[in-house]
Amino acid sequence: MVFCSFETELTDRFMKKFALPLLVLLAVACNPKNAGKNTENMIDMKLIEQKAGEFAPFKLTTDLSVLTEKEKQMLPLLFEAAALMDDIFWKEAFGDKEILLAGKTDSSLVKFLEINYGPWERLNNNESFLPEYGEKPAGACFYPIDMTKEEFDAWDNPEKTSLYTLIQRDEAGKLQAVPYHVAFKEEVEKAAGLIQQAAALAEDPGLKKYLEARANALLTDDYYASDIAWMEMKNNTIDFIIGPIENYEDHLYGYKAAHEAYILVKDKVWSERLVKYAAILPALQKALPCEAPYKNETPGFDSDMNVYDAVFYAGDCNSGSKTIAINLPNDEKVRAEKGSRKLQLKNSMQAKFDKILLPIAGQLIAEEQQKHVKFDAFFENTMFHEVAHGLGLGSTVNKTSTVREALKDAYTSIEECKADILGLWCVYQLNEMGELADKDLMDNFVTFMSGIFRSVRFGAASAHGKANMIHFYYFQERGAFERDAATGRYRVNFDKMKQAMFDLSTLVLTLQGDGDYAKATALIAEKGAIREELQKDLDRIAQAGIPRDIVFEQGPQALGLNQ
Ligand code: ZN
Repeated sequence: MVFCSFETELTDRFMKKFALPLLVLLAVACNPKNAGKNTENMIDMKLIEQKAGEFAPFKLTTDLSVLTEKEKQMLPLLFEAAALMDDIFWKEAFGDKEILLAGKTDSSLVKFLEINYGPWERLNNNESFLPEYGEKPAGACFYPIDMTKEEFDAWDNPEKTSLYTLIQRDEAGKLQAVPYHVAFKEEVEKAAGLIQQAAALAEDPGLKKYLEARANALLTDDYYASDIAWMEMKNNTIDFIIGPIENYEDHLYGYKAAHEAYILVKDKVWSERLVKYAAILPALQKALPCEAPYKNETPGFDSDMNVYDAVFYAGDCNSGSKTIAINLPNDEKVRAEKGSRKLQLKNSMQAKFDKILLPIAGQLIAEEQQKHVKFDAFFENTMFHEVAHGLGLGSTVNKTSTVREALKDAYTSIEECKADILGLWCVYQLNEMGELADKDLMDNFVTFMSGIFRSVRFGAASAHGKANMIHFYYFQERGAFERDAATGRYRVNFDKMKQAMFDLSTLVLTLQGDGDYAKATALIAEKGAIREELQKDLDRIAQAGIPRDIVFEQGPQALGLNQ
C-alpha cells in the first residue's frame, strides 16, 4: 500500500465551509429514501435467523493478572477510543446506523445488520437482505453514490487517490477530497484525547511513544511516525491498533482505508516460542523448493512475530468474517525501513478451531485420522501462512516489474495460494532442521486438509476461497487424499501429500518469479471453482449447522474489568 500524507494545517475557514455541510451530506447520501421504514414483515425472518445463527458467539477474554494496575486503568480509555472507530466505520460502510436500526426489533435481524455493518451480506457477495436497499455502492460511502468513474478519472486532484480522504460533493455539486481528520473531526479528536490519556498511564516507553504518535496521526492523517514507533515498540504487553488501515471496503478503486481498532494483550510465553523463527527466515528463504533465481531476495530483517489474545475488535476488522492473524503496517516505506509485525490472535484462532474446524473435520475427515486435527497444528499452519507471505520474490526474476503488477487481478489468489502451501512447507522444513520438537507432520497435513473445507466456504469472491479450491483440486489430482464414496469422508495420504506440497510450492514460486499472468489465470480458471462433488460435501457441513464464522461478545464487561 502506498503511503500518502497531505497538508495537515487546514484553516478554520476550510473546516467551517466544508466539514460540517459534508458531514450532513455524508449522513444522507448513503441512505436510500425508504430508510427507517419498518420492513420486518416483508423479510424472510426465518432466513435471517438462520444466517445470523451461522455466526457462533464467542466471548473475548484474557488473563488480566498479566497486566499492571496502570495497564488495567488504560483499558477503559482504549475501549472508548476503539468504539469511536466503530462509529466511523459505520459511516464509511453504510451511512447513518441509527436510521438503519430504527424500528428494527427482531434480535436476529439486529445481530445480522451489526455483523454486516449494513443491509448487505458480506459473506454472500454483498447481496442486499433488506428489500428497501438495492445493491451496495462499490465505493461504499467513500465516494458520492452518484459519482461515475468517468467523472472521477477526469477530475484533476492529487488528493483524490489518498488513503485518507473522503470524496464528497461541495455545495455547488463539485467533487472535493476531504481529509479524514476533517470529515470525522468529532470522533477523531475524542479518540486522540483518550489515547493521550492512555499514553500518560503507559509505563513501557515504547508503548507511550507509540500512543502519543498515534493520537497525533489521527489528528493529521500522517501515519508514518506512528507506524515507525509501533515497529520500534518491543516490550509492551498491551497493543492497540487503531486508525484507517485496510482498503478492502473500497471496492470501486481500493484507494480508501477504512477505520478499525484492535485491543490486544500479548501472550509473552507463546511469543517467546516464536522469537527464534524470525531469525530463521533467511535460512527458510534459502531452502525454498525452487531454483536459485526464484529465491534471490532477502526477507525483511526487523520483522517480528508475537501471539496475543484479542479483547476488542472494532470497525472494519469486526465486520463479516473475523481476522485471526494480522500483518502490518501496510506502508511500504515503513516495511522497507523496519520490516513488519505479524500478530497471531490466539483466542480468536481457538474459537474458529473449536467452533468451525473441529466440527467440519468431524463430518468430512476419515474417523481414524480425526485425532490428527489439533489446535497446535492449526496455529502453526496459520502462523506460517503469514511468514510465507514474506518468502519468495517481490519482483519478477527479470526485474521488469513487481510480482503484484505482473499478475494483476490474479495476484491476490495466487499470493494466498503461495502463503498457504509454503506455510505448510515451512513447518516441514523447520522440522527437518530440527527446530520443532516431537512433531507429527500428519497433524499438520490432516489439519490443513480440514482447513481447506473451512476456507472454500468463503466462496470464489474471496482470494482465500479461491486459493483453497486450487489446493483441493491440485491435491486431488496428485492423490494427496482419497474420498471414500460410501462415507463421503476424506483420508490424507501422507507421502503423496508431501510430494504435492513440494510440487505446488515450486509451481507457485516459479509462476510468481516469471510473472506469468497467462499461467496464473489458467490455474485459477481450471481449479478455482467448486465442482459438484465437493459442493455436496459442503452442503452436508451446512446442514449439520456448523457455523461459518464467529461474532464477539466483547467489551469491558465481557473482559471482567468492572467486576
Ligand atoms: Zn494471507
